[in-house]
Amino acid sequence: MRRVFGYDAFRGPQEEIIEHVVGGGDALVLMPTGGGKSLCYQIPALVRGGVGVVISPLIALMQDQVDALRALGVRAGFLNSTQDFEERQVVEASFLAGEIDLLYLAPERLRTESTLRLLDRGQISLFAIDEAHCVAQWGHDFRPDYLALSALHERWPTVPRIALTATATEATHEEIAVRLNLKDARHFVASFDRPNIQYRIAPKNEPKKQLLALLRSEHPGDAGIVYCLSRGSVEKTADFLVRSGIDALPYHAGLDSRVRAANQARFLREDGVVMVATIAFGMGIDKPDVRFVAHLDLPKSVEGYYQETGRAGRDGLPSTAWLAYGYQDVVQQRKMIDGSEGDAAHRRRLGSHLDAMLALCETVECRRVHLLAYFGQKSTPCGNCDTCLTPPDSWDGTVAAQKLLSTVVRLDRERRQKFGVGQIVDILLGKKTAKVIQHDHDALSVFGIGADLRESEWRGVARQLLAQRLLAVEGEYGTLVLTDTSREVLSGQRKVPLRRDPEPAKRAPRAEAK
Ligand code: ADP
Ligand code: ZN
Repeated sequence: MRRVFGYDAFRGPQEEIIEHVVGGGDALVLMPTGGGKSLCYQIPALVRGGVGVVISPLIALMQDQVDALRALGVRAGFLNSTQDFEERQVVEASFLAGEIDLLYLAPERLRTESTLRLLDRGQISLFAIDEAHCVAQWGHDFRPDYLALSALHERWPTVPRIALTATATEATHEEIAVRLNLKDARHFVASFDRPNIQYRIAPKNEPKKQLLALLRSEHPGDAGIVYCLSRGSVEKTADFLVRSGIDALPYHAGLDSRVRAANQARFLREDGVVMVATIAFGMGIDKPDVRFVAHLDLPKSVEGYYQETGRAGRDGLPSTAWLAYGYQDVVQQRKMIDGSEGDAAHRRRLGSHLDAMLALCETVECRRVHLLAYFGQKSTPCGNCDTCLTPPDSWDGTVAAQKLLSTVVRLDRERRQKFGVGQIVDILLGKKTAKVIQHDHDALSVFGIGADLRESEWRGVARQLLAQRLLAVEGEYGTLVLTDTSREVLSGQRKVPLRRDPEPAKRAPRAEAK
């Protein structure tokens, strides 16, 4: 640790894990992004005789990882589909001669008989399975190639295995143990808390402008990542930021691979670059001084959100995780789930991932307590998240919910035409828009019964009803419809506590000045 890597001390459970694996034991390691997983297999690979074989899905990063190790004097190589025959031969020869300490392999290599035979002929000190959650169908990042990894234990039963992941929900964790045949492995769980990251989730009004305000006021000149759901919004957001004088670059799977590689390299090597990306970007990126991670669209799961935000502040300095979230996000994600391929069980799984994410967004409690509880860890209010810094009011939204749901009922009776949230809110507010007049909606008994709340507040009510499944959307135009539980609200059997959204202009102060 000191001589090769130059660190003063182990972090968290690193030492225990390393001792266990050096001694030949199997391990399942759960550690948050930035926690220091790599050392847990790199040191045992150096200490034990033979070559440590690292399975990693991060083909684009293998060259960088190997270069970084070589710079420390560690002999390392990789085998993946980006190499030509000759490059592979050089690596294979050094593996067979035991002239490297670490060999990085893409998982699909293990599907080829020639790779398996190659591994048979060398001496293997351990198998490290990085990003092990990729084997779990329950998880959020399943990769079929990972299923082949169960063969490792069958073919090389005496070689110790260490599986590592930053995804720690009970369900994913159990699935990893079963699929990788690691039931007898020792489990090591590090604290998932990242105290230097300030978590903030804001109502989405004008997301690009909100983002720009955040960058200008709190992160001028800082490196950061901005996540968007689609390639189109990545392009638009990057353009917008560049026009606003921010050093921003786009990254998504639709870009030419050379452009992608060049943008990634600039982000890693230069200071203060803002990467605007889809979630295709970031796994395995080890840049210590990412000062903020912003989400302009709702992530599909808490696991994904936590992994993405975890890319901020690996150096331990104050960093921001900021998410803008609104009504349209819920509509869009529910639509994507309904239209997704796969069976009913798969859709249910996606649905419960989304529900957990929505619960995090709508909580009036400490975000960190909520997040850590999701990963099975108890904690106390952190003082460094938006709800701790400016506690949101909760209010009894039962009457408001009844007004909104009654309007949905009235419109549903018309049947002829379906209406989305915009029309519902206009009716509640008593606005005589062209569309209201055209459909005689100003004659409805509910017309104008919601004048006590502002438009943004009504949208907040609709969003929260949707998040709580007291309201649902249907069809292409996002028509609002009742759910089984909406009736309990209408009949007064069920109370509806709601979160009061902060005023758009207000911003949570930082816990520590930079
Ligand atoms: P993970 O794979 O868990 O996301 P890494 O293994 O990439 O994390 O480590 C994250 C960062 O922490 C890296 O920059 C690494 O060099 C650093 N690091 C790891 N272990 C230690 C340690 N014991 N002391 C200091 N820095 C460490
Ligand atoms: Zn908190």
